[in-house]
Amino acid sequence: MNANIVVLAGDGIGPEVTNEAKKILTAVAGKFGHNFTFDHQLMGGCAIDEKGTSLPDATVEACKVADAVLLGAVGGPKWDNPNAPDRPERGLLGIRKALNLFANLRPVKVHPQLISASAIKEEVLAGVDLLVVRELTGGAYFGPRKEAGEEGYEAYDTMLYTRLEIERVVRLAADAAMGRRKKLTSVDKANVLASSRLWRRVTVDVLKDYPELSVDHVLVDAMAMHLIRRPADYDVVVSENLFGDILTDEASMLAGSMGMLPSASLGDVMNSHKLPLGLYEPIHGSAPDIAGRGISNPLATILSSAMLLRHSLGLEAEAAAIEAAVDTVLNEGVRTGDIAHTGTEVVGTEVMGNLVVEALKV
Ligand code: NAD
Repeated sequence: MNANIVVLAGDGIGPEVTNEAKKILTAVAGKFGHNFTFDHQLMGGCAIDEKGTSLPDATVEACKVADAVLLGAVGGPKWDNPNAPDRPERGLLGIRKALNLFANLRPVKVHPQLISASAIKEEVLAGVDLLVVRELTGGAYFGPRKEAGEEGYEAYDTMLYTRLEIERVVRLAADAAMGRRKKLTSVDKANVLASSRLWRRVTVDVLKDYPELSVDHVLVDAMAMHLIRRPADYDVVVSENLFGDILTDEASMLAGSMGMLPSASLGDVMNSHKLPLGLYEPIHGSAPDIAGRGISNPLATILSSAMLLRHSLGLEAEAAAIEAAVDTVLNEGVRTGDIAHTGTEVVGTEVMGNLVVEALKV
């Protein structure tokens, strides 16, 4: 198969971790007889520096004709001035909107080898394997808003949802649940918010098409508690944008380190393989505190490249091969500093990438 992958390395540790993921994708191409080309484009702080904008038109155009997009991370103290006309994060929101990426998928699987790296008790973590699907282009982050301005008296954000916005993300989550353990939990705040009452109504309507699913509606405050108390009970969890943002970060702590968790953002634009054009990225940021030292954990980005193969190229065996190679390396007791514990061998970013490539070739 031929595939054109746009790489948005971004800022901080972004270039380090995407480099390793590219190495793994190239090894997969060699092993399985594919041809992947990488088209590097600018987004974030590096784009502000070079092009004067966090999201150059050329980047948007390149992404639109790609088969998939691999992103490192954007941002850093250099571009942190809140009064600056442009910020790296604007590029991220802009590309999500431009590609209509309405669903963010974050699988949270606790690798048994890493249980001791989590702050949560071992018996609570056993068997945790959940997928959080977060709505990504609606709600309070995109609804009508008013800044407080100089006078500072009043400000608001509006959590606005339409039936269509809810329907498409719930359907995507339900389809994902059908391919897993057939359990779907929809999270809202229907006892207080009008947009949540619409969310629940539409969800109930959509799920009439999925009689095989076991369905739960849970209020977001209760869900925040259940996620920590009994995370293994959940399979697919779907939520609106703001609640999903918070719950996905909470869920990430189950896995011990942000350096381990991949994500995919999918929309309805199809690529040349008639699959969703998606943007794949680790859930962590640009980690300016460790950037350039060669010690960042590339596994979240490597696992994101496995999701890329699965969702945008339909290459399930290749995706599983990457995940198995990561497991092999962890089983061998090799760790980057963020997930190290007594008795493990600590390696840097590049060595970790090389070891995954070696494990993949076996
Ligand atoms: P962060 O995720 O960058 O870092 C939080 C902590 O986790 C740091 O101590 C960091 O060293 C560590 N860490 C993160 N990824 C790691 C990895 N792969 N290996 C080892 N350790 C890792 O979050 P932050 O410090 O809040 O944000 C830093 C910058 O990243 C900010 O400018 C923020 O806006 C940006 N950010 C970008 C994205 C994105 O591009 N999607 C997401 C979150 C934050």
